[in-house]
Amino acid sequence: MFSLTEKDRPIVQLLLNTGTCPRCVLRFRCVGSQTIYRRPYRDLMKDLEEFLKNQEKEDTVCCDVVDPPCKRIRLEHTEEGPDDVNHNGALQQIPSVNDENTAVENSAVKVCNVCLGILQEFCEADFVKMVCQKVNSADYQFTSFVFSVSLPPQLSVRESLFEVSVVFAHPETEEECHFLATACPDCFKPAKNKQSVFTRMAVIKALEKIKEEDFLKHFPCPPSSPKDLCIALDIQCNNGAVFVAGRYNKYSRNLPQTPWIIDGERKLESSVEELISEHLMAGFKADSFNFSSSGREDVDVRTLGNGRPFAIELVNPRRIRFTAEEMKELQQTINNSSDKIQVRDLQLVTREAIGRMKEGEEEKTKTYSALIWTDKAIQKEDIAFLDDIKELKLDQKTPLRVLHRRPLAVRCRIIHTMKSEYIDEHHFRLHLKTQAGTYIKEFVHGDFGRTKPNIGSLLNRTADILELDVESVDVDWPPALDN
Ligand SMILES: [Zn+2]
Repeated sequence: MFSLTEKDRPIVQLLLNTGTCPRCVLRFRCVGSQTIYRRPYRDLMKDLEEFLKNQEKEDTVCCDVVDPPCKRIRLEHTEEGPDDVNHNGALQQIPSVNDENTAVENSAVKVCNVCLGILQEFCEADFVKMVCQKVNSADYQFTSFVFSVSLPPQLSVRESLFEVSVVFAHPETEEECHFLATACPDCFKPAKNKQSVFTRMAVIKALEKIKEEDFLKHFPCPPSSPKDLCIALDIQCNNGAVFVAGRYNKYSRNLPQTPWIIDGERKLESSVEELISEHLMAGFKADSFNFSSSGREDVDVRTLGNGRPFAIELVNPRRIRFTAEEMKELQQTINNSSDKIQVRDLQLVTREAIGRMKEGEEEKTKTYSALIWTDKAIQKEDIAFLDDIKELKLDQKTPLRVLHRRPLAVRCRIIHTMKSEYIDEHHFRLHLKTQAGTYIKEFVHGDFGRTKPNIGSLLNRTADILELDVESVDVDWPPALDN
């Protein structure tokens, strides 16, 4: 009776155990025959259980029940009768008393974890009868009708994100709808991204507005035979986005984080985001990507230590399933392809999890290492006092170098600790632990007095920064992997 085979057994078992209804089980196993779906729920459930029993004789399957749904709906009218359905047509939900018994004899049925019950009670004869009664009692005159079903939005969350859409077009659309534009010019305003003004919405709006006699004057009833056949204009496939996160190190002082393009002209040939995403795009066979990260570094700044957290959204991927092993290989491919960057902890994440990378960014700390030059000679003793300064408050006016893209403001930032390392009379290295968002270069040279205090003012000399490295970005996401 079912076209289910041996290999379907473990899947049917798993789906039933997790609370999927028989009709959803059948459609997931690609059972195409309509007649099967018309059979009552009870029979379908009984048959599926029979199907599973046949196997249990040979060998016992063990499947864990994952998160059983806690609500049940009544599948059949009991002595309470029509009261099960309230006046809005919504089903009364009955809290579950025990989750053990899923036997067909039990009249309370788990709400399907996929279709939310639409393919359970609402596909039974009783509900169909109720719809018919409603239509009959409304007492409309009609010759044909459209039956439309509107589903709760979270069904798209619960179901596959893969979508196939077929777009039909007809060569006579313009010609046939033209009279509407004459009658209701307001409804057909040209839009930038629309090829034609005759969009579905515009046509419906105009049909609502146009007077009956005007309509009949311009449009024959019954409609004339079209000259041409409809064209299947496009068959589109679209998959829900996949998100990948990890941490990157940047070892080059000549590599921007994102493509550096000024007035349409490319300044440097590559970027961190391109070096990483190029391989992810190929692996996931995606159309495009969106890169985000926990802060960013300047083109001449290296990012060392554990690296900087990043996430990439892969848009419309063809491939979506990767094992931990395959992700490791992908990471290796990225790492083998360039010595300018390295990636670690590469993993699949959810869209929601990416929020964790961005939240509380201002509160996070970062550690840096700066190579500093001074105009007047220094001795070790001259810089030793820097090590004793704790929680130093800075007032930073928006740096001159970013003033063209950031609003002018004075921001208060904190240097938590500093540690100096003397090199020679004009050079020393400074390790700093700071509040995220502190402009380190400006803290060193002072930005013409726009950052106060600064290393120059503290040392009473002119100071400049020669090299800067990010030594750590203290964001504990994504989780570290042991690779
Ligand atoms: Zn279902």
